[in-house]
Amino acid sequence: MIVLVVNCGSSSLKYQLVNMDNEEVMAKGLVEKIGLPDSQLTHKWNGQKKEIKQSIPDHKVAVKLVLDILTDAECGVIKSMDAIDAVGHRVVHGGEEFAASTLITDEVMKALEKCSAMAPLHNPPNIIGINACKAIMPGVPQVGVFDTAFHQTMPAKAFMYGLPYELYTEDHIRRYGFHGTSHRYVAGEVAKVMGVPVEKLRIINCHLGNGSSLAAIKYGKCVDTTMGFTPLAGVLMGTRCGDIDPAIVLNVMDNHNLSTKEMDTLMNKKSGVLGISGVSSDFRDLGEAAKEGNERAQLALDMFHYQVRKEIGAFAAAMGGVDVITFTAGVGENGIEDRAAIAEGLEYLGAKLDPQRNDVRGKDALISTDDSTVKMYVIPTNEEIMIARDTKEIVSKQ
Ligand code: AMP
Repeated sequence: MIVLVVNCGSSSLKYQLVNMDNEEVMAKGLVEKIGLPDSQLTHKWNGQKKEIKQSIPDHKVAVKLVLDILTDAECGVIKSMDAIDAVGHRVVHGGEEFAASTLITDEVMKALEKCSAMAPLHNPPNIIGINACKAIMPGVPQVGVFDTAFHQTMPAKAFMYGLPYELYTEDHIRRYGFHGTSHRYVAGEVAKVMGVPVEKLRIINCHLGNGSSLAAIKYGKCVDTTMGFTPLAGVLMGTRCGDIDPAIVLNVMDNHNLSTKEMDTLMNKKSGVLGISGVSSDFRDLGEAAKEGNERAQLALDMFHYQVRKEIGAFAAAMGGVDVITFTAGVGENGIEDRAAIAEGLEYLGAKLDPQRNDVRGKDALISTDDSTVKMYVIPTNEEIMIARDTKEIVSKQ
């Protein structure tokens, strides 16, 4: 079975074509700046790369372009569009309606539209992507895989906020959590690497990238996570503030006469390690600036490492202990010094980092000492393969 994995952002479309007989990635690419003046497609296949710069006014044109290049005589990998058996879509918000991936039907589309109110930045482009694929590939089954689904096992004591109860029952305000597909993948993968069933492990997964979240995964089920009603909550991130006293929002809006949109931009785009350092949202830039003596860059890094470490402690308490701590995503997979700084002071928990083993990037690796009672691993995430696997499983059952 050949599955096309699609991840649509507001002006981008990432894709992967996966042969599910052997999970081989046949081709992948990115369409950028959809609807903007300098839109382009970057396509990679068989170790080769091609860039096409042309006008791409909307997602439908983007999907068409992707299908054209996948079937192109020179850089294509399939003869015709008919070779694609199914399409798997990343969908950011599935609300409480979706606790698992699902075949997209008209009913599902209606439910997705409802979820858009809760994720106005993320869900609409996902829906546009699904509609574009449905229009261009009618009859090809489409599957939705939700960032929120894995977290639906959280108990109410973890997902409820201390607000009037009606805000939950009527406005659906609660913790949803995000990066669920990544957390689910890493939990399964570390269990495989350790040779222990996931049902026997208490895992704290640290997904640390531009956006960061931690998840407490007890015996295969998510019991808590740091992101909340939106992906703005939790540890501070590249440009997002993470958890702050909610009264600050009112205070800053009043004092600076900001609209809700302006406040939203301040918290989502101008905060986090960028806001603290004034240097960059990129952890590599911050590391370099800190080494050159930039104190605010160092402060931003210190805050990030401290907050991640604090959440690890919180999740160990939430699960009554922890067996394994995993690091994934850009910073988690590559940030050797970041992992070392986070792990500093976790010895009390029984987690001891091995500096030699920690000198590793971008591959499955044990990074704790042999006598560390809590194991630590680097596990590169792979959300696309999860989407492709779910798509195959759901479509095979039809
Ligand atoms: P992601 O959102 O998962 O793509 O992660 C992006 C983040 O990973 C950026 O802040 C990058 O600076 C960071 N990153 C990538 N490589 C490294 C590295 N070698 N050391 C530290 N951070 C890195």
